[in-house]
Amino acid sequence: MTKACVLHAPTDLRIEDVELPPLGPTAVAIRIAAGGICGSDLHYYQHGGFGTVRIRQPMILGHEVAGLVTAVGTDVTRISPGDRVAVNPNQPCGKCRYCLAGRANLCLDVQFYGSAMRFPHVQGAFRQELIADEVQCFLVPPGTDLTEAAFAEPLGVTLHAVTRATSVAGRRVAVVGCGPIGALAITAARRFGAREIVAVDVATAPLRAALAVGADRAINSAESPDDIAAYQADKGYFDVLLECSGNDRALRSGLDLVHPGGTIVQLGLGGDITLPMNSVVTKELELRGSFRFHEEFGWAVDFIARRQIDVRPLLTEVIPFTDADRAFTLAADRSRAMKVQLSFA
Ligand code: ZN
Repeated sequence: MTKACVLHAPTDLRIEDVELPPLGPTAVAIRIAAGGICGSDLHYYQHGGFGTVRIRQPMILGHEVAGLVTAVGTDVTRISPGDRVAVNPNQPCGKCRYCLAGRANLCLDVQFYGSAMRFPHVQGAFRQELIADEVQCFLVPPGTDLTEAAFAEPLGVTLHAVTRATSVAGRRVAVVGCGPIGALAITAARRFGAREIVAVDVATAPLRAALAVGADRAINSAESPDDIAAYQADKGYFDVLLECSGNDRALRSGLDLVHPGGTIVQLGLGGDITLPMNSVVTKELELRGSFRFHEEFGWAVDFIARRQIDVRPLLTEVIPFTDADRAFTLAADRSRAMKVQLSFA
């Protein structure tokens, strides 16, 4: 048995004993050290889900974790007890047409930690002990704190988004919505050679974080609409816009900021959005979705381990999992929190 953060209903999060599966031949037992609270965890906690996805049975939350290996199965060759690992929460089937085509993030039969998209739900990783498969485990070198390693998953999401833009090298990039994903998208775009990065949000605190991780300019679109409007001249200024808010007004106004032929990558999950499609047509815009990641998880671990991307400015606080309600309340407060993590010691 091990202790876990189990969500029973909105705001009904309990610390409970859950059973551990036996250690199979390719399995790795991990003592979880750090787990980041993601926007989707928050949606489950606050509303029981998002869109049409709802929890219908108790579910352990969490999918941004790193920890210490305590035991390995008989067929495990790459990982040993005592190793520190970041855990990829994504388990594609490896057999469907999308997996075979190298697009495992679109897998037909994926299991993703702490997700109610399928039933029975896939249980998450906010727990003291986790049994994962060796392929999910990415070694973290000694000099890297496991709190940093736990950023690999959200960083992987944004690295994938940058690749969906085809290239940001030498480009002018706008990042709209500067929560943890937007801020990490800034670091990813910078790493991949963006010439200029402008961060846009409606709140002050996220914009401060955007500057801290390398944005060239931060604009509060609620307070300074004229600063935004200046980028609309001559049919738009930016080559690439990374839409991280999922907000319909943000996407609509984003269409005016990208020049003809430019690319908008939508990472933020929103509800139904009405768009002026004539703007997409007459400006020949590329509007692209970006969902999760695949090989980019490994890239993220390497960038973090080498500090080629420094995620430390984004860690707001680490809170014991036994105080999870306080952690989730803090994570929901955009004026105080960027990334909040749970510790499981
Ligand atoms: Zn598949």
